[in-house]
Amino acid sequence: MEHPENSAEYAGLQVNAGVAQPSIVNPYLSQMRKKRQKLFTPAEYVEGILKGNVSMLSQAVTLIESVLPEHQVIAQEVIEKCLPYSGNSVRIGISGVPGAGKSTSIDAFGVHLLENRGGKLAVLAIDPSSEKTKGSILGDKTRMEKLAVHPKSFIRPSPTAGSLGGVARKTRETIILCEAAGYNNIFVETVGVGQSETACHSMVDYFLLIQLAGTGDELQGIKRGIMEIADGIVINKADGSNVDKAQLAASHFRNALHLFPVPESGIVPEVMCYSGFYELNIDEVLDMIFRYIDQVKESGYFQYRRNEQSKYWMYESINEHLKNSFYYNQTIKGMIGQMEKEVLGGQITSFVAAKKLLDTYYENIK
Ligand code: GDP
Repeated sequence: MEHPENSAEYAGLQVNAGVAQPSIVNPYLSQMRKKRQKLFTPAEYVEGILKGNVSMLSQAVTLIESVLPEHQVIAQEVIEKCLPYSGNSVRIGISGVPGAGKSTSIDAFGVHLLENRGGKLAVLAIDPSSEKTKGSILGDKTRMEKLAVHPKSFIRPSPTAGSLGGVARKTRETIILCEAAGYNNIFVETVGVGQSETACHSMVDYFLLIQLAGTGDELQGIKRGIMEIADGIVINKADGSNVDKAQLAASHFRNALHLFPVPESGIVPEVMCYSGFYELNIDEVLDMIFRYIDQVKESGYFQYRRNEQSKYWMYESINEHLKNSFYYNQTIKGMIGQMEKEVLGGQITSFVAAKKLLDTYYENIK
C-alpha cells in the first residue's frame, strides 16, 4: 500500500512495513492432521505391534474404532494377522455402578499386579453411553493416576461410536491386538448397568463385580441377575468406620450366593472386602482372581469358556453385519421412514411393513 508518509519529500516519521497478521488457524495444525492420518500398511502395523510398539498399537486401535471403510479394511487385516499371536492372557472384567470405585480400584489392582506378578497390563473399557454422558469416561487415564504413568501399562478409553454391539466388538478386537503386543493381563472396565455387563462377560475369563456396603445395591444386584455372571464379588471402601458394614454386606452376599445353582465353572464365587483408595487387601483380591484362573485352567473350563465366547462372537458378528447391511442400504434408507409413517397411521401393519422392507432388501442385493 502506498503511504504518502513514505515519499522522499516527507520529513516526518515513516511507516514501516508491519508484521503480517497471523492466520487465525494454527499453521501447524494441517501438518499435525496429516501426521495423524498417515497410514501404514497392515504388515507395518503388525510388525510394530508384535514388537510391543505402543504408538503403533494405539494407531491400529484407532483404525479399529474408525467408521471409515478404508480404515476398517486395514484394521481387519491387522486383526487377522495378529490373531495367531493372541489369546495368551488373562482377561478380567471389572464392573460396578458409577462411584463404586472402579477407576480407583483398577489403579490399585493394576499397580499391585504389575509389581507382584510382572508382565504387562492393558486396561480397556466398554461404555456405549460415554458419547452421550461425556462426564465419566471409562478407562480414562486421568482417573488412574499411577497406572497411567506405569511403563508396562496401556490404557484405552471406551470406543464411543455406535451401538453396544459395535462398541463391544471393537473392545474385543482391541484385546486381540493388545495380546499380540505382549499384554498378558487385560482389564475390561464396564459400568454396572445390565447389557454392557453381559457384553463384557462375553469376552473375559473372570468377571469381578464391585459392590458397596449399605446402599441397598446388594439386593438389586441379586434381582438383576448380575450375580449369575459374577465370578467374584468384592465390597469396596472397607476402610475406617465402614469396615463393619462392608463385612456385613459380604456375609449377605455369601448367603445370597447359596441360593443360586453352582455356576458352570463349578466354583462358587468368593466374596471379599477391600479398599481401593487405601490399598487394603488388594493382593488378596488378586490372589482370589488368579486362584480361580488356575482352577479353571486345570479343569478345562477356561478353554471351554473361550470357545463358547468365540462361537458367540461369530454369531454376533453375523448379526451386526446383517443389520448394518440392511439399515445402510440406500433403497431401505429411502423407504423406511415412509413405512414407519404408514405403520403409525394405521394404514399398514408392522408385519406387512417389515415384510415389504425385507423383500425390497433381498431384491436389491441380488
Ligand atoms: P467409579 O465411578 O466406579 O470409577 O469410581 P471412582 O474410582 O471414581 O471412585 C468414586 C469415589 O469413591 C471417589 O471419590 C473415590 O475417591 C472414592 N473411593 C474409591 N475407592 C475408595 C475406597 O476404597 N475407600 C474410600 N473411602 N473411598 C473410595
